[in-house]
Amino acid sequence: MQPQSSSSYGAERQTVPTGAGQDVGRSCCIVRMAGRTVMFDCGAHFGFRDARRFPEFGLLSRAGRFTEIIDAVVITHFHTDHLGALPYFTEICGYRGPILMTYPTFAIAPIMLADYVKVNADRPGERLPYNEQHVRDCLRRVTAVDLHQVVVVAPGLSFTFHYAGHVLGAAMVHMTAGHLTALYTGDFNSSPDRHLGPAEAPLALLQGGPSGASVRHPDVLISEATYAATLRDSKRARERDLLGAVVETVAAGGKVLIPTFAMGRAQELLMLITDCWERNGLQVPIYFSSAMAARALVYYQLLLNWTNANHIHCVFVNVHICVCTHIHTTWMMLAPGPALLFASPGNIASGVALEAFRSWAGSSKNLLVLAGYQVRGGAGHDNLCGGRSGGRSGGERRVEVRCRIKMLAFSAHADLRGLLGLVRRCKPRAVVLVHGQREPMEFLRGRIETHVGIECHAPATGTTVTIAPRRAVPLGV
Ligand SMILES: [Zn+2]
Repeated sequence: MQPQSSSSYGAERQTVPTGAGQDVGRSCCIVRMAGRTVMFDCGAHFGFRDARRFPEFGLLSRAGRFTEIIDAVVITHFHTDHLGALPYFTEICGYRGPILMTYPTFAIAPIMLADYVKVNADRPGERLPYNEQHVRDCLRRVTAVDLHQVVVVAPGLSFTFHYAGHVLGAAMVHMTAGHLTALYTGDFNSSPDRHLGPAEAPLALLQGGPSGASVRHPDVLISEATYAATLRDSKRARERDLLGAVVETVAAGGKVLIPTFAMGRAQELLMLITDCWERNGLQVPIYFSSAMAARALVYYQLLLNWTNANHIHCVFVNVHICVCTHIHTTWMMLAPGPALLFASPGNIASGVALEAFRSWAGSSKNLLVLAGYQVRGGAGHDNLCGGRSGGRSGGERRVEVRCRIKMLAFSAHADLRGLLGLVRRCKPRAVVLVHGQREPMEFLRGRIETHVGIECHAPATGTTVTIAPRRAVPLGV
């Protein structure tokens, strides 16, 4: 892709992933429509500790003229792979234009970014080029928005955020530039879970929210494709499977390690586990590995109206739950008897999750639960790819793995059915897939083109997709 000024695009609509093209991590997608250029998400890749940790901003402007080129940056949710490069983009690269995110994302972003700074300080590899002061300065530039609020950032350019499930505060974003529209999904979940509702019905999206009147199909749908080739078994069966293995392990005196990022899956799994503890009268302690997780729980209580409030109850003040400091964590790992530990990060690349993995993975009494997507670069990914024989990796040191491993497609992402459902209901002019591995994305691309009859692309990072107009469109510029 050649760096160009936004004014040269006229009626064209172009999409360029500058990260997460045929990959998961460092989400960042540039959309150009009607002379406007927008960056959706600005994420970091957890699997890398060098320049590949951030999107390829150099594709936009070799001279660093980002404020001139980008009309707005929109962040869909607080996960680091959608947010982690933002302080770098504003404080080091110098972007000074509008930045939008929902109120919950804005509330939780400081915790996530501070944790990313801390985790990177502990890891070998290139130093993270920003610090906690950069995070504070960056977040001062953010405008927090509500769902269904029409946010106009420039003449003819507006955004509306819609509930996406997935994690607290996650949103799909509807962009209008002149007479053209795009829907960027970020990560979304089409099914409700214990602590969040499902992504909004696409009809509401197409009507522009509850008060909207005209149905309008987006010119471009840019969709995540994390589970593009997966049809998940029923939720109830998945939960039974997980709980059966957990109860069996603690009843036999073993330890259960659930590596997870502090926000999102952790809350969902915690609700599931505490329900199970109540039903079975278990007294086995449940540990959270950081004060960050405890702070995160408070936000779920403060932001109840963004959650599936029917199911949120006093679970987060449960007597079995103990939040560990670093000293407690070391003691807890060596203590005899059964225990269950939620430890971050979810990909076991570093931190308490990696320490616990090294301590516990050698015993066949213990259980490792991999309950989400495993990005490249972590021990979780190595375990999935390394077969069941011993000697798999635990970061830099090799660890003989004898514990049981349960892999569950227990994720807050839409599966193949959910992804196809969104495409069918939105009926966009064209679909661009991002945030997924190449082969599953190719599978989904084929399905969308042959079964739904809609043009679909799955570009690699840095590849520009140009969508031809559906019909003559009066320009809004
Ligand atoms: Zn996410």
